[in-house]
This record gives sequence, C-alpha cells and structure tokens, in this order.
Amino acid sequence: MVVKEIVVASNNINKLNEIKQIMGDEIKFFSLSSIGFDDDIEENGSIFYENALIKAKAVSKFINKPVLADDSGLVVASLDGAPGIHSARFARLNATDEENNEKLLALLKNHDDRKAKFVCELVLLFPNNKVIHSVGEVEGSILKSPKGNFGFGYDPIFYSSELQKAFGEASCEEKNSVSHRARALRSLFLKIKNLNNL
Ligand code: IMP
Repeated sequence: MVVKEIVVASNNINKLNEIKQIMGDEIKFFSLSSIGFDDDIEENGSIFYENALIKAKAVSKFINKPVLADDSGLVVASLDGAPGIHSARFARLNATDEENNEKLLALLKNHDDRKAKFVCELVLLFPNNKVIHSVGEVEGSILKSPKGNFGFGYDPIFYSSELQKAFGEASCEEKNSVSHRARALRSLFLKIKNLNNL
C-alpha cells in the first residue's frame, strides 16, 4: 500500500507544520478547511485513543482518503491522571491556558509528588477502515510556578527531565527533539514507510 495523501483532522497550522516537518514532502497533507470540512466533532471518548479515533472517523465519512487525527494532554500521576483528556478544558469550557495552569498549581499545592507526562496518541484511519496507531510520551514534573514565554498550554509549568528546563523556556527545536507529539509522529512515520515499502 502506498500512502501519498493524508487529511489531517485539524486546522491548527502549528500542528500541520510540525507534521510536514517530521514526515517530509513524500506525502501531501490537507487541512480540514482545505477539504471543506467544517462540522464540530464531539470528542466524547474516555481515553486519548478513543478521541483520536472519533475525530478520524468523523472526517473519514466525509472524504475517501486516509485521515490522521490526534489527541494529547497532560497526565499527572498524583492526580490520578488528571487533567488527561480534559487538558484543554480543565478549569472550565473554553478556559485560557493561564486558568488551566492556575488550577493545576492549586491542586498540587500540598503534593510532593509532582511527576507528570505529556501523552500524544495518533490514529491514521484508511478508507478500508484499517487503523495505524502510535503513541508518544515525554516525562517531567510540574513546577511550583510558570517559567519562560515559549510554547502554549501547560508548557510554562512543565519541567522536562530530558531538556532540564521548562518547556516554556525551550526553543521550538528543543521541544520538538523530545516532545510527545514529535515522538508519536516519528513512530507513525516509520509505520507508514513500512507500508509504502510493501
Ligand atoms: P489537543 O490534542 O491539541 O486537543 O491538546 C489538548 C490540550 O492538551 C491542549 O489544549 C493543551 O492544554 C494540552 N497540551 C497538549 N500538548 C501540549 C503541549 O505540547 N504543551 C502544552 N500543553 C499541551
């Protein structure tokens, strides 16, 4: 099977650029807006994988091409995995990054165990319903206060053990060298390459 075109179930330009950067230019990528898809997809799964598959299936009904969907978030061990799949709306629906970070810092105020990881799950769904799946993780801990101005979401309060600095202090290149999303993308890319060699 040769994969030449993939629809990415996102309009996030940063995600699309990161995907192109890692996957190279052998495959042509399309955003949702470029294929005219503008439905709201209800992500009502209970795990990252389910949410990624829900997104991929919704888009796959619309177009006869392989669809790549992702779901990611922050998992804090001492909070039983929260914020997890609720990362984007942890403080409330449409919460700002600052509100989510403040809520997490408040919940961890009396915790010594501040271990955390970012997780990214990717699903590539083919028109014949075949699914390729990959996971990427990056480990670290939650700082006591925000550091740095780079990145988005929980980056300013996530200390990466590998980079030995907060993601908020890391350049794009540094973050991409260890990030959950980059790792999941690289792993998926290898699986696609194997398919293309068949
Ligand atoms: P999504 O997979 O883009 O929907 O990400 C869900 C939420 O997880 C985001 O809104 C962020 O709050 C959080 N998140 C995911 N990836 C990252 C990251 O690389 N840095 C910081 N926060 C992230």
